[in-house]
Amino acid sequence: MADIGFVGLGIMGHAMAQNLIKEGFDTVVWNRTASKADDLVALGGRAVASPGDVAREADIVMLCVSDTADVEAVVFGPNGVSSGISPGSLIIDHSTISPGATKDLALRVNELDAFWLDAPISGGSEGAVNGTLSIMIGGDVSQIDRSTPYLEAVGSTITHVGPQGAGQLVKAVNQILVVVNQLAVSEALLLAQAGGLDLEATLSAVAGGAAGSWMLSNRGPQMIERDWSPGFTIDLQQKDLRLVLAAANDLGVPIPGTALVYQMYRALQNQGLGEEGNHALVKALEMMSGVEVGSHD
Ligand code: NAP
Repeated sequence: MADIGFVGLGIMGHAMAQNLIKEGFDTVVWNRTASKADDLVALGGRAVASPGDVAREADIVMLCVSDTADVEAVVFGPNGVSSGISPGSLIIDHSTISPGATKDLALRVNELDAFWLDAPISGGSEGAVNGTLSIMIGGDVSQIDRSTPYLEAVGSTITHVGPQGAGQLVKAVNQILVVVNQLAVSEALLLAQAGGLDLEATLSAVAGGAAGSWMLSNRGPQMIERDWSPGFTIDLQQKDLRLVLAAANDLGVPIPGTALVYQMYRALQNQGLGEEGNHALVKALEMMSGVEVGSHD
């Protein structure tokens, strides 16, 4: 048996699996596009042929795939994780998916005498590479103990927030904070550009005060450089906001700022920009204003 299994080796999952391997855990991995496992195998990981095989090799399986339907596919689809789990196995889902659907998926796994923790993550691609993710966990608190060594290999803030599904709802809260802040950073840089300010000096002046944020410090410099490479794509952020708006709708809560950003991301997708980093939100404001932020080299 392996120590830990990992399904989904995208921007986040690949870096998380890499940290597990670097910590010395015997790690089995699977990815739909098999080549993304090659360098992890070179590092000492073991690639297997299906998510079911991951579960046959490891009692604890971490997942990090795109959307709700993708989690369902890798867990309950052909040769999915559920085909290989044993009584007592644990699935830890690090994907950002629907809180409501999470409760259903978790109950289906519980019916197989296995456990589910929804454990979405925050901290960007940098947090995944550095092993400093924030992990918000919903589910049976007793399952966290057995997973702590693996969670600590990928994250530095690990918080149990409630029962199955609560982790995903906290992630929705997280995404409201992220995108409304992203809009603020975008508007701020646009105004600075329009006013002819030195953008680097402006960032230095404000980042350490009450206006400082992770988004400003990490994505602000990238925006000034017009580097739109994704830590997190517009397509995935738009997906997250769809989930956030659905959750707010279910609960009858208006979230107008988030709804606005959702529509701006939709406009950027329609311009063919869905695979750019979500900090390219500023491009929607640029289209409205005719002002372009940053250097043009
Ligand atoms: P990504 O780079 O696009 O990777 C997506 C992964 O999911 C890939 O391994 C992909 O496989 C796999 N996948 C998608 N659909 C699948 C399916 N139907 N069956 C099997 N595998 C499937 O995305 P990411 O940025 O790593 O994000 C992954 C999750 O983490 C998302 O839920 C995202 O919202 C969340 N997240 C991301 C960030 C971030 O900053 N990037 C931060 C926090 C949370 P292939 O390689 O074959 O395409």
